[in-house]
Amino acid sequence: MLNAIKSAIRTVPDFPKPGIQFKDITPLLSDHKLLRYAVDSLASDWKDAGITKVIGIESRGFILGAMLADTLNVGFVPVRKQGKLPFTTIRETYDLEYGSDSIEMHIDALTEQDVVLIHDDVIATGGTAAATHRLVEFAGATVAGYSFIIDLSFLDGRSKLDSNLPFSTLVRY
Ligand code: AMP
Repeated sequence: MLNAIKSAIRTVPDFPKPGIQFKDITPLLSDHKLLRYAVDSLASDWKDAGITKVIGIESRGFILGAMLADTLNVGFVPVRKQGKLPFTTIRETYDLEYGSDSIEMHIDALTEQDVVLIHDDVIATGGTAAATHRLVEFAGATVAGYSFIIDLSFLDGRSKLDSNLPFSTLVRY
């Protein structure tokens, strides 16, 4: 099944700009059985971790992030690009594989009791996930670990994250 998941991830060269090998998960999303397997595989690592919220990072992280939250019977929190969330936010700036950006989370999205799983579709340089970790800490909550469908491990994004925390991924390049 993991091979089937890898086959359902399409590499699109030079998107959104020259030199980027974009990992397109839409073929995986459109296959119900594979999608269910991907969510259940990622969720199985976190069943007994005391997770109280799953964070999904805009925008592709929302999709499996919300499914993971539902599978783990916990709530979902969106982390979005600057200016997208309507209520009062906290903000962090980070570097992308392509460019730099800021992300925000609603100031009341987490409490100090929350134990959070951070999810995104892809970890590339790790800047976005590391900035998300800082947002969770700023909110006074605890990061339990990280979950990604795809790890572009040649970019070593994992080294930007807390090495003491568990890290789940389905496909590595
Ligand atoms: P990074 O902060 O470098 O780890 O970048 C992670 C974010 O950028 C994630 O939200 C990914 O969706 C997106 N991203 C970066 N590189 C790629 C890629 N090669 N293919 C698909 N998404 C990417």
